[in-house]
Amino acid sequence: MGNKLHIVSLGCTKNLVDTEVMMGKLQNFTLTDNQEEADVIIVNTCGFIDAAKQESINTVLNLHDSRKEDSVLVMAGCLSERYKEELSKDMPEVDIFTGVGDYDKIDELLVEKKSRFSEAVYLIDGAERVVTGSTYHAYIKLSEGCNQTCSFCAIPSFKGKLNSRTLDSIAKEVEGLVAKGYWDFSFVSQDSSSFLRDQNVKDGLSLLIQRIELIEGVKSARILYLYPSTTTISLLKNIAKSEIFHNYFDMPIQHINDDMLKLMKRGFGKKQTLELLEFMRALPNSFVRTSFIVGHPQESQEMFDEMCEFAANFGFDRINVFAYSDEETTPAHEMNEKIPAKVINKRAEILGKIASKCMEKSLKNELGKEVKIVIDGESEEHEYLLSAKELIWAPEIDGEIYVNDRTSDEELAFGKIYRAKITDILGNILTATVENA
Ligand code: SF4
Repeated sequence: MGNKLHIVSLGCTKNLVDTEVMMGKLQNFTLTDNQEEADVIIVNTCGFIDAAKQESINTVLNLHDSRKEDSVLVMAGCLSERYKEELSKDMPEVDIFTGVGDYDKIDELLVEKKSRFSEAVYLIDGAERVVTGSTYHAYIKLSEGCNQTCSFCAIPSFKGKLNSRTLDSIAKEVEGLVAKGYWDFSFVSQDSSSFLRDQNVKDGLSLLIQRIELIEGVKSARILYLYPSTTTISLLKNIAKSEIFHNYFDMPIQHINDDMLKLMKRGFGKKQTLELLEFMRALPNSFVRTSFIVGHPQESQEMFDEMCEFAANFGFDRINVFAYSDEETTPAHEMNEKIPAKVINKRAEILGKIASKCMEKSLKNELGKEVKIVIDGESEEHEYLLSAKELIWAPEIDGEIYVNDRTSDEELAFGKIYRAKITDILGNILTATVENA
């Protein structure tokens, strides 16, 4: 077997970490963007909702169509795990199937050329990974699996129960990455605010903040995927007190109508949601991101209107909108009064427009402000424009800034923090002048 590797990571940032673990195990390979010359092709799939599942299958089949004869095609990850029986029968194009339990054994699977689905869900603990996409930022996984029982979600069925890493394991990984020059970290999991609750520790994230703050070289951090019923005001206060962790609040609430939240088995109501969100919003320089699902079974027009009005007026910085996906094995799948696809798509379009307006308003609020930014590299737009993001923003999902000017002659470096003035807005991209380092 030659040593050219083409690897594709689909789905969420948690999946990306697992892909990076596989790359860490295959460092004897040379990475290639050209699947036609690859000896090994790996697709780390996503199995969350219909659209993601379709994308995963199409990606695997397209790569199969263009791969060279004696190459090896591996289908890994959530979709492969969730439908292991069906896929091994229906997709003869794939040479090796593996799920969510063997990322750190990928090298063995390639030698054996055999599919493998280990029982236990893999949880990174000390594996050397190849961090992708940045020279200064890395995602850090807090846990695997989830103990919540949201009506629409199949993730616990293939990722299992909440299994948190230890603080030592996380701190050791961060220290190792700092030693390699990384200084900005996004902590992710399915349900971050439940971190360590499977080890009977109630305030796991507050302990994490204290521990990470002790690591010299960590300059910036944020936590994604807070779950309302396990997010407390004392946690929010600890985030606000931190010099390192930004007032960055990513809390998918999925809906705001009390009856729908009950139907969704979210374990909290409108009142508690508002208390948490208003506390977040009131914190200085806070950034509030959320997600909504439209078209869940039994969602009435009134419930939808209530959600739209709330989304439009609360003052979110960013909103993700998901169209309900009827996932077998979930409680919602068994519910009656399903919403027709045409209505679901219409509702997603309406709420999508509201989400764009919220982002536009949030970006306009930045105009004239002096903020901390980090430059990622040359923009794809124009060689004279540098691509940056606000330091508080998470990579790739919160927006881009074009740096088109600077007040000093100093050459601007990539992956470095600068103070900059936000000067203009082009569509939903801000422009900025770097003031000084
Ligand atoms: S918190 Fe809910 S939506 Fe998220 S992974 Fe767990 S069950 Fe799924």
